[in-house]
Amino acid sequence: MTKFVVAIDGGAGSGKSTTAKGVARRLKFFYLDTGAMYRAFTLKYLRNNGKGEEHVNMKLVRQLLGRTKIDLRQDGGETKVYLDSEDVTLAIRTPEVSSSVSQVSAISEVRVWMVAKQREIAEGKNVVCEGRDIGTVVFPNAQVKIFMQADLQVRAKRRIKELAEKRIDAETEQVVENLRFRDEHDSNRRHSPLKKAESAIVVDTTDLTIEQEIGLVRKIVEDRLESNLDI
Ligand code: C5P
Repeated sequence: MTKFVVAIDGGAGSGKSTTAKGVARRLKFFYLDTGAMYRAFTLKYLRNNGKGEEHVNMKLVRQLLGRTKIDLRQDGGETKVYLDSEDVTLAIRTPEVSSSVSQVSAISEVRVWMVAKQREIAEGKNVVCEGRDIGTVVFPNAQVKIFMQADLQVRAKRRIKELAEKRIDAETEQVVENLRFRDEHDSNRRHSPLKKAESAIVVDTTDLTIEQEIGLVRKIVEDRLESNLDI
């Protein structure tokens, strides 16, 4: 059984990753980045000549799912993403992957596969898990549920800075459009759409610094931990 789960959901670039990572590090919880898993599978699909348009090649997706291994390893404070034993931590952040990941993620077989894998990874651990369907589908019994949001222009600025730190070039307009497109697509898909869980606490990060957003969520988690003596 998973021990204590902090579920963080929200739109693209809303501050989930930075917050989830920061909170996990401070509380010594495992950081489970589910977006990285969807990105890794999308990378494999594209490398196998899959097209990331509206009509995803289902036959190819099924074939690939049957022979894919995705692993997240915590390596001295950093999380490394492995696809079939290859370190793809950087490769999954390119604009090509970002442009196709929402379409591939909308496929129900992909989601079923991912959710099973995510629960398996979390087994026996205290986790901070971030994504789009964590509080609603993956861990509906999470002890803490947070829903993060922020103004689109602010999110785009942060994303461009993050990409620049990874030496990935991206045009502002392209980034704004991609964030908008993914949120729209992720919110309107049939299977486990992006949506706030009923009991989730909304955290708007538009005017918060990174330290403030981490501090705020950490306080929410610590208050909940204090009242949860059996972990
Ligand atoms: O979190 P990140 O922005 O890297 O996620 C990339 C994409 O993966 C999202 O836009 C969404 O399409 C998909 N995703 C998802 N469910 C999750 C996490 C990510 O569908 N739990």
